[in-house]
Amino acid sequence: MRDYSTQAVRPEVEREELEFDVLFVGGGPANLAGLWRLLDLIEAHNARSSKKLEGLTIGLIEKADEIGDHAFSGAVLDPVALKALCPDYLERGFPAESLVQNEEVWLFTSERSGFKFPLLPPFFQNHGHPIISLSRMTRWMAQQIEAREVPGVDVMLLPGFAGMNVLWEEGRVVGVQTADKGVNADGSPRSNFEPGNRLRAKVTVFGEGPRGHLARQLEEVLHLQQDAPNPQVFETGAKEIWEVPEGRVPEGFVLHSAGWPLKEGEGGGSFVYGMGGNRLAVGFVASLDSADPFLDAHLLLQKFKTHTRIRELLEGGKLIQYGGKALAIGGLHSMPRLAFPGGLLVGDGAQMVNAARLKGIHLGMHGGMVAAETVLDALLENDFSEPSLQRYSKAYLESWAGDELRACRNFHATVAHGLTPSAALRLGLALVSKGWVPGDPLKVSTDAAATVTTEAFYGKKGLQVQELDPGVKFDGARLITKLDDVYLSGVMHDEHQPGHLKIVRGHEVCVACYATKGAPCTTFCPAQVYEMHPDEKGRVEKVEIAFSNCVHCKTCDIKCPEGNVVWTPPEGGGGPKYTLS
Ligand code: SF4
Repeated sequence: MRDYSTQAVRPEVEREELEFDVLFVGGGPANLAGLWRLLDLIEAHNARSSKKLEGLTIGLIEKADEIGDHAFSGAVLDPVALKALCPDYLERGFPAESLVQNEEVWLFTSERSGFKFPLLPPFFQNHGHPIISLSRMTRWMAQQIEAREVPGVDVMLLPGFAGMNVLWEEGRVVGVQTADKGVNADGSPRSNFEPGNRLRAKVTVFGEGPRGHLARQLEEVLHLQQDAPNPQVFETGAKEIWEVPEGRVPEGFVLHSAGWPLKEGEGGGSFVYGMGGNRLAVGFVASLDSADPFLDAHLLLQKFKTHTRIRELLEGGKLIQYGGKALAIGGLHSMPRLAFPGGLLVGDGAQMVNAARLKGIHLGMHGGMVAAETVLDALLENDFSEPSLQRYSKAYLESWAGDELRACRNFHATVAHGLTPSAALRLGLALVSKGWVPGDPLKVSTDAAATVTTEAFYGKKGLQVQELDPGVKFDGARLITKLDDVYLSGVMHDEHQPGHLKIVRGHEVCVACYATKGAPCTTFCPAQVYEMHPDEKGRVEKVEIAFSNCVHCKTCDIKCPEGNVVWTPPEGGGGPKYTLS
């Protein structure tokens, strides 16, 4: 297996070994729901059975300093999984920003024009659903778990620990090793050096979000993707949170749009969600299988804010937070194998997302909850083999979540290149046929392979991004530069550590990419981490990487057309600090 670690292996270092029965990797909604459900199931089992489960240790590690710091999503939540997990969630202080009451869906055609759908398309009907901040929701879930006391179970929530390597034994997963802390850029240990721990577990549940670092290692060994018709595919979203004058936005306001400012042939769209405290979440997502070498979700968001309808919403408002993230959008046809010896995959890393509804939190949470049922059986039978854990995959796909994913299985491939009349026709057909369209399964390429040269896309060889008309006059008030936006993500990394963005094929590959494709990383990164600085003759020697700005969206790992960037976890605790996103 290739070693993508940014950290030296250090065989000489003695590492503390901790034993868990179950280890959840990642503190997102899927794993938190899984851990919560597992505690419920153990409690219920112990109450009714004489063969009690006792002396269990269950852990959850999260790379952020606190659970919720890296959680970033729109979002209008379909509460189906939450209600199953916690029927009295509203009484227990669930942080709903508001409940959807006013919905608009638009097709924008230019900065000043558009068409408001008289009826809501079925997949955009959200009436009564909670508008949430995923950051606040995951904090609440962690608090609910921490407040539990389940006899016979020791629960350890461990934020600030990044999973660096999968631990293997005879071809099966036996846990993860966490990242070392206190390492200099040259790899030497500092005085505060803390070696990563070996966390061994009977079963490990991976919920790292899109493009997980450990999921990559699993893929290399286990080839979990090989039976899926399509590769995993993604969108990148950029989102700002605004405070707007009181009364500006009706209670429970939701707006979605397609079309402008996307170019012809590009997939994606916008969302505007009314949150509590006169706040608005304003975001734009762009499909990463665009051919445009200068695809830029942040720039699309800025352009989107110039539309008359959005401009009037934001007038007199103040920007308070920003973030960026990749979203899985492949769904069922991109889903990897969900279970393997000693481990399970849940959430975005398993492509549990309904791209048609722009929603995945409910599907991921349900994944975690179904995984918990399988884990309980495995604990009772002391059987963590692949056949035992495959019950999870079967149960998930036979549940309502499998039905929902089957119904939208061709959605992304249908609209990946825009909402054309033929795409609209296919969408209509898929609605009545529960997902089937001619050619099912429709194929998509990897996002990286879709990027073409500047000459092929813009008809101009060697075009650089500076030569493009940005179409946006940044004013620092409504239209914000990337760097000013990034400041509002709260991102921070210890700058003494080795850079966590690894150039794996050499800088000369980046230089050649700059000449032909204009170095797409300099535009698609929503945090302006990558920059090319040509000399007076226009020559570049390397790509400059300001890793401390990285908001952990993973877009570079997904979209680099040369496959030259690998995202690895920085020291635990580094990254954005989302509180409202
Ligand atoms: Fe996202 Fe990569 Fe930029 Fe970090 S460096 S913000 S992971 S595109």
